[in-house]
Amino acid sequence: MIDSHCHIGMDALSDVSGILMRAQTQGVKSVLSVACYEPDYPALIQLLTDYPVIYGAFGIHPEYADSMPDADVLKQKIQAHPRIVGVGEIGLDYHYMGASKEVQRSVFERQIEIAAQIGKPIIIHAREADEDVMAILEAAARGGLLQNSGVLHCFTSGIKLAEKALELGLYISASGVITFKMSEGVRDVFRALPLNRLLVETDAPYLAPVPYRGRVNEPAYVMKTAEKLAELKGVSVEEVDEITTCNFNRLFKIGVGDEG
Ligand SMILES: [Zn+2]
Repeated sequence: MIDSHCHIGMDALSDVSGILMRAQTQGVKSVLSVACYEPDYPALIQLLTDYPVIYGAFGIHPEYADSMPDADVLKQKIQAHPRIVGVGEIGLDYHYMGASKEVQRSVFERQIEIAAQIGKPIIIHAREADEDVMAILEAAARGGLLQNSGVLHCFTSGIKLAEKALELGLYISASGVITFKMSEGVRDVFRALPLNRLLVETDAPYLAPVPYRGRVNEPAYVMKTAEKLAELKGVSVEEVDEITTCNFNRLFKIGVGDEG
């Protein structure tokens, strides 16, 4: 099992050895930890240096779009460690609106270009912005910028965006949200999606799945999301584990000899 998206090293998740040990006990073999803006970047590099089971991603989250660095600086930072396997999370968030919609869209587009230039998949954050995310992804695909694919992380959007993502060759990641009582709509979307395009994640320290709601989330709990996904798809947890692990490795080009 792989936790395809979490934020290890943040204050709430600073006991990295303990977190990884508990994850391993639950069968979670690796995790992808995401740094959302430049101040989090040095800690990510330290994590990758200290723990070979951790993969990383770096990109400017829409909430911090106003802090977008120069493209060359961003490229260099993403390429500074061989286990930074993706550009993200990038996208649009019209709920929190840490930056204007115009700035968010332009920063999203610029990072899609950067990812294409350096040959990495993108990790997409979409919140209350389905139409604009779809328009930007479609334009990117038309411009040949989605050759390295990507994933819509912590998917809580509607079926239209999910189907568009599949059509564009992207993956979709399920978080603990699919275990929440109120999430029947999201569960319906996942019932309709093919397992060979799905990933599982915690988005820890946020969004702990049932029965851990209200606690600090951590990678060990990804098992609860996998169990729910297995139930929705009518398959065993082992099958969800095997297929989502293959999907993760395919998407992030892991095991092709270029990670260190
Ligand atoms: Zn996100």
